[in-house]
Order: sequence, then structure tokens, then C-alpha cells
Amino acid sequence: AEEAMVERRRRALGPAYRLFYEHPVHVVRGEGVFLYDADGRAYLDAYNNVASLGHCHPRVVEAMARQAAAVSTNTRYLNDLVLDYAERLLATFPAEIGHVMFTCTGSEANDLAIRLARVVTGGTGLIVTENAYHGVTAAAAEISPSLGPGVDLGPHVRTVPAPDGFRGAGDVGAAFAAAVEAAAADLSRHGIRPAALIVDTVFSSDGVFPDPPGFLAGAVAAIRAAGGLFVADEVQPGFGRLGAGMWGFARHGVVPDLVSLGKPMGNGYPVAGLAMRPELVAEFGRKARYFNTFGGNTVAAATAAAVLDVIEDEGLIANARDVGTYFTDGLRALAARHAALADVRGAGLFVGVEVVSDRDGRTSDAAAAGRIVNRMREAGVLISATGPRANVLKIRPPLVFRRAHADLFLDRLDAVMAGLGT
Ligand code: PMP
Repeated sequence: AEEAMVERRRRALGPAYRLFYEHPVHVVRGEGVFLYDADGRAYLDAYNNVASLGHCHPRVVEAMARQAAAVSTNTRYLNDLVLDYAERLLATFPAEIGHVMFTCTGSEANDLAIRLARVVTGGTGLIVTENAYHGVTAAAAEISPSLGPGVDLGPHVRTVPAPDGFRGAGDVGAAFAAAVEAAAADLSRHGIRPAALIVDTVFSSDGVFPDPPGFLAGAVAAIRAAGGLFVADEVQPGFGRLGAGMWGFARHGVVPDLVSLGKPMGNGYPVAGLAMRPELVAEFGRKARYFNTFGGNTVAAATAAAVLDVIEDEGLIANARDVGTYFTDGLRALAARHAALADVRGAGLFVGVEVVSDRDGRTSDAAAAGRIVNRMREAGVLISATGPRANVLKIRPPLVFRRAHADLFLDRLDAVMAGLGT
């Protein structure tokens, strides 16, 4: 039956889509930290960073359904819910961030960030990391080298190595700042004015690099000195995942010019946006227009407001911190016994584990990472692998992950590693 579905999917959706796992999961239901397949089997979902409050959180579902039954309308009409939500969201940012524009996806948020940065700076040059992912619109794809060799980065894009504290020696922040400075200088040499440095503040697709806190400050100073803006892509780390406040940039002690938001913002409902410094975009508003039919619709606002309520009422940021520490301690204990697990890094419930064939040589092992991901799936735990070498286990459980879930995960990983003989 599954093969038939895979074939139907291929015929209807075409060749550009990828499925997770050698043996894809046929999902029919989600509840809390678990997904359920067509046979009723439960999977601990330690991958899906959209349903960050747990799948189908009842308060979010209720808010969404209630507003869908009242009215769904767009930003061309006045509506309290949209304004209330915008004000509440802005209150989670430093005082310098004073506007938010709503979109439906993270890609659109980054697309708008590119457009704004170009209008504001008069430049076109963009600097991103070597294995960045920022989205699928034409402009966002141009700054997403991880989409593959079929993507043309364009003459105005420069890439810099990610701040890899596992392989890099010395001061990660200084090296990253120097790379950004050199990229900006290279743009200028080619007659291209730098418009922005855009980074995912945890560098997820580059391999998950949160540490040391503060290392981004030098790079932010470098892009500003070159006349460009700093765009923090918070689509993955945002909304409390790192277990310290709401936003990943805060970990680095910097305030961005533009901040892209998405994924967990609606816990599954498509809502995203771009937050910004008002003085920077005043001119954009005078010259240009923005309208996004579904962006900031009333159902999105009601749903996203319920997400903020739940994060606060259930103490989920503190939970991400506490369970995140417990979980990474447990992973480090496993790494002490399984030589293939060479480095455990993360912040809160955003965790990466480097899989290697040789610890001393730090030789990445994508094949082993793939085997671990697929065996974990067979054992009822969902994770993925990422990074330029596809050897970093990417683990992002929902913020309602408890110690008992962490124990279940660690047990299964221990058994999988023992089964692989590593
Ligand atoms: N930025 C980052 C860091 C992302 O991880 C993603 C999605 N994986 C996006 C942007 C794009 O978001 P969306 O898929 O909602 O367009």
C-alpha cells in the first residue's frame, strides 16, 4: 500500500519533492510529541519544528477553529485581532524593533527582507553561509546554496564558511567576522554594494552551530561597516526553542535590522513575517506597496496569538532550557560510549550530533548518519541529518518534550548505536 502511495505521489506531485526515510511514514494523526501512522503506531517526533507546542495543541486548534467560523479576512480591513497580535509579538523584541509585516511562509519573509535591504541600502550584494537555506522564492533560492547544484547563486551573492566550532581552530567569531568583511570587500571590488548579511542564528543547515554565545557580534559590525543590514533568520531558532528568551539573535547580544519569522509561529497554521527597525523602512513605505492576501489574516492572527499564550502559560521556554540540558547531557553520556557520536552541541531543544568514522581525524560519516536516522525511524523516533556533509543528526523536539521523552529517545539511540556496532 505504501509503494502505491509513493507512486501516486510521484505522478501527481512530480520529481522535485523528497520524502523522509527509506521507509516513509504514512502519517494520519498527531498529538503532543507523537505522530501516528496508518497502523496506529506512535513515533516520537523529534524533528518537526513547526508543531513546536506539540501536534494539534488543543488551545491552538480551538482558537483557529473559532476564528475560522467568525471571519477570515485580510490586512486591507481593520481588525483588532491582527493589531493585538502584532503588538504582542513586537513586545517580545528589543525596543529597536518596531514594525512587523506578515507573510505566509519563511521564504516570503526572507524575500521581503532582501527587497527591503536593497531599497534601504541602495546595494544588491548579499552574504550568506556556504550551506545556507533561506527559502524557495526566486530571490530566497538565490541565497540558499543547500538547495543543490541546480541553484544559481547569482553574481551579487557571496558565501562565507559557517562558524564551525567543531572543525575550526581558534576564535570562531573572529574568523566569521573576517570572512564577512572579506566577502563585503569582494562585492565592492566587483562594483556591487553590500545590502545584507543574512544568517540563520543557529546555522541549522550548515550543521547547527550555536556556540559560543556572542560570536555573531563581530560579523554584524562588519556588515554594518560595509553599509549592509543584518538580517536574522529566526525561522528555525525563534519562538523559544533555544531555551533562553524568544530569539536566537539575543544569544549573541546583537539587535538585527530585520528578523524573519515562520515555522512554529502558528504551530502548523501557515503564518510568518518580518520584524524590523522602523526608521530603516520608512522610505520603503513611502515609495512601495506591500500586500499579501493571506499574510496576517484574522485566522492566522488568532492562531499565532494562542501560540504565544501557550508558550507563556506552559512555561515552555524554561522547559526547553531544562529538558534541553538534561537531554544534551544524556546525549554526551551516549557519545562517551559510542565513538561515532563525536560532538553534541545545541541550545535548548535545538541539538546537533556530529557523526564520524574517525574521531581523531574528525572524518564525517554521512552513510552512518543516514543509517542512524533510518534505524531510529524503525525504532519509532523521528530525526534527520543535515550539514554540508550530511553527517550531523538534526534533533528538534517540540518544546513540550519532557524528561520521560528524552529518556525514551536516549534509550532508542543507545540501542540503535549498539545495533550498528559503533
Ligand atoms: N529560513 C530557514 C532557516 C528555514 O529553515 C526555512 C524552512 N526550512 C525557511 C527559511 C523557509 O521557510 P518556508 O519553508 O516556510 O518558506
